[in-house]
Amino acid sequence: MEFEGVLKKYFDVAYTEIEFVKRTYSALKTHGFSDENSIAVVCICRDEISQSLRSIIKHMWGEAFNLSSLAGMFFAGQTGLMAAMHHSPVAGGKERYVFYALPHIAIDAEGHLGSCKRAGREGESTACGALNAFQKELSGGHLNLSIDESDLEQSLLKRRLLREIPYGHVPDLLELTKITQKVVQKDIEYALNTIVDRRKSDYAVISGVQIHGPEHNYVWVASCYAVVNEVMEKIEV
Ligand SMILES: [Zn+2]
Repeated sequence: MEFEGVLKKYFDVAYTEIEFVKRTYSALKTHGFSDENSIAVVCICRDEISQSLRSIIKHMWGEAFNLSSLAGMFFAGQTGLMAAMHHSPVAGGKERYVFYALPHIAIDAEGHLGSCKRAGREGESTACGALNAFQKELSGGHLNLSIDESDLEQSLLKRRLLREIPYGHVPDLLELTKITQKVVQKDIEYALNTIVDRRKSDYAVISGVQIHGPEHNYVWVASCYAVVNEVMEKIEV
């Protein structure tokens, strides 16, 4: 199966990045969020092929606070989140935050999951490299779970994701990517629930998977909602 077929099989609806950001922007606008009164906050992988999404978000929302770590894990923690929140405009006595949280996976022209080409390099490359390395450790049966201070993000990634994988089960890269998406969303939501004062702030959480195709990047949306005046509303993208 080639790229299009694989994309459709595993990701029911996928938008190009520009379409995705435009759709989320206009949907959130009807809930009171705009580039004038909100700060966008991005949690994606460090990979350079992921950064086009942050650029588009910056373009639409004016700026984008960067919470990113390897694989798009949320390791900036409460301190990182507080910093982003404190940078929000204050409009009508309210702060507004828009969170974009998306791990990523590549699909090449032949439909191979995890595989991509990179400018100036021969042969196949992998995305997400951090998740792929973890998957290789899992399938190899030798998992190093120590906290290596010279490899902090990868050490934390392994420990955090392992908590969500049933004992003895070895997910493939696609399943691991979808597990990561749920983990990142959950961890941001946990931090938000701990920190945010909903009487003074409205916020939106958009989570999904960024997909690198042979020509473009795409986004599959897993979850999109806003909390406005302390009420949570699901948002159709
Ligand atoms: Zn990555």
